[in-house]
Amino acid sequence: MTRKVYLVGAGPGDPGLITVKGLKLIQQADVILYDRLIPMELLGETRPDAECVDVGKLPTKHRLSQDEINRLLIEYARQDKLVVRLKGGDPFVFGRGGEEALACYEAGIPFEVVPGISSAIAVPAYAGVPVTQRNTASAFTVFTGHEDPTKPESSIDYTALAAAARLGTLVLLMGVSQLPEITARLLAEGIAPDTEAICIEWGTTPKQRTVEGTLATLPEKVQAAKIQSPALTVIGAVVGLRAMGLDWLNT
Ligand code: SAH
Repeated sequence: MTRKVYLVGAGPGDPGLITVKGLKLIQQADVILYDRLIPMELLGETRPDAECVDVGKLPTKHRLSQDEINRLLIEYARQDKLVVRLKGGDPFVFGRGGEEALACYEAGIPFEVVPGISSAIAVPAYAGVPVTQRNTASAFTVFTGHEDPTKPESSIDYTALAAAARLGTLVLLMGVSQLPEITARLLAEGIAPDTEAICIEWGTTPKQRTVEGTLATLPEKVQAAKIQSPALTVIGAVVGLRAMGLDWLNT
């Protein structure tokens, strides 16, 4: 017998931001394989006899390789266990959920995806920044500043990214250390230096910190504030709405 593997999004950090379906699965699971960025409070919802396995990855040190995680998922499912693979935010947004789903498919293991609230939209929201706004931003582009280090050269097309910035909002995930390089490339593409920008660390959690500036000033401010992962950066006019009354968390 083989049970299903559930790829579940745990939401961005606030434990209240998990779906009803995701929470029910956590409560039923035999095994939970979880990441570093999930709200740890959710593990308090598991059955007393459930096995909770930390497969979390630190930015510099991988505790388990992706192949090892895939193998574990498959092994547990073949033991007729209800497996929940609990991932921060949404499993399919820079979460390697697609790779894990493919591994299940190739091994003949049935799986389901339970989407989660991605940090890409929820973290800006908790900082009072809507990623779209009528007449201000008619698109938002989520991109990563941390690419596969084995790639020979950056696959980010900065000309395309600058075009996206003219259309709307940019949301940068995993890019705190690359922020000076990324903002310099956008400035070189002609994006206005006074474009509003904000970096948000540990968004939606009690540890949330924000640093606000412009495309030109943000990297230095972020460095001075010692902002570290997990953090994301929002670039665009929507950031200005925060100061116009949308910073609901601090009011
Ligand atoms: N699947 C996740 C993203 C995984 S990539 C999702 O949908 O949210 C991890 C990156 O997400 C981090 O490096 C950071 O840029 C961002 N991130 C995740 N949680 C965050 C949080 N609470 N605050 C700020 N950024 C966060």
